[in-house]
Amino acid sequence: MRAAVFHEVGTPLAIEEVAKPELRPGDVMIKIEYCGICGSDLHATQAGDLVVPDGMILGHEFTGEIVEIGAEAGDQWQLGQQVTAVPVNACDDCGRQCKYNRGIHCANNLITGFGAPGAYAEYIRVDSGNVLALPDGLGLREGAAAEPLAVGHHVIDKANMRPGTNVLIIGAGPIGLSCAAFARHCGARHVVVSEISESRRTRAEQMGATATLDPGACEVAEAYAALAGGPPDLVIECVGVPGMLGMCLDLVKFQGKVMVCGVCTQAETFVPLAALAKEACLQWALGYEKRDFEVVLDLLAEGRIDPQPMITHVIGFEDLSKRFEDLRTPSDECKILLRPQSDA
Ligand SMILES: [Zn+2]
Ligand SMILES: [Zn+2]
Repeated sequence: MRAAVFHEVGTPLAIEEVAKPELRPGDVMIKIEYCGICGSDLHATQAGDLVVPDGMILGHEFTGEIVEIGAEAGDQWQLGQQVTAVPVNACDDCGRQCKYNRGIHCANNLITGFGAPGAYAEYIRVDSGNVLALPDGLGLREGAAAEPLAVGHHVIDKANMRPGTNVLIIGAGPIGLSCAAFARHCGARHVVVSEISESRRTRAEQMGATATLDPGACEVAEAYAALAGGPPDLVIECVGVPGMLGMCLDLVKFQGKVMVCGVCTQAETFVPLAALAKEACLQWALGYEKRDFEVVLDLLAEGRIDPQPMITHVIGFEDLSKRFEDLRTPSDECKILLRPQSDA
């Protein structure tokens, strides 16, 4: 089968012919229809702490059709069924994280596309326990947005956000957009997104922001207060570069909360005094649980969350390596989907 293979930092993904995965008991084989390119994939292929091994196939945001069902996979699966999967391969018996459905924190977890072969490929082998059927009414293309949307759902869940909360989201990449969608869905009053790119600001408004700000053209604290009548109760950091935590703690209201989901791999400095004085809360959120996916898939199928503004392009293998490298520099792109089965 064809797959995009990572070899080393500084070398673009190579489109190669590789062996099709072999089913183990309990697995299903999925023919990939769509797979999103994620910011995490960029982190995993550049110098730093997150780089994946030579030979890794990336890709963890996928939909496709079941084409083989392994022994012991359960009798609820059918050939041709349209599915996605939670890209978490936890041990299921470590008694700590797995017992509480927190597989993403399991020490034995191999995340699909980082520790286990991913979906920049024609086929993937997945443990049937991680597979989720796409509900009626949800297409394969839109279903591929379930993973980044599950991240946003998890952030709002972890934040214990109450209806009427005033929210500020820093950054309108796919995760910022997902957070905007779920903040709005869960009853936030003002959902303001701060983002330099005009096209990304437009997408944020389409995904649920009540207003947007250009931090290059205004003083964010002042502009936010003008819109919402005061500082934000909840600030969600979705950029992941040094300087963001201090900035978010400065922006948040007295006894407010900063949720961090940006992936920052460099040292961060800030002076804690301002946060101390206002008794601010600083909290991180990582990934999702299967339950987040289940909620997202239902909301997508019912049309209550619209992923369309997030998806900017669909490409084939012939464009993947270049488009992947291009994403390392800021652009107007949002979510690019790979379509491995076609060259369109
Ligand atoms: Zn992702
Ligand atoms: Zn475990």
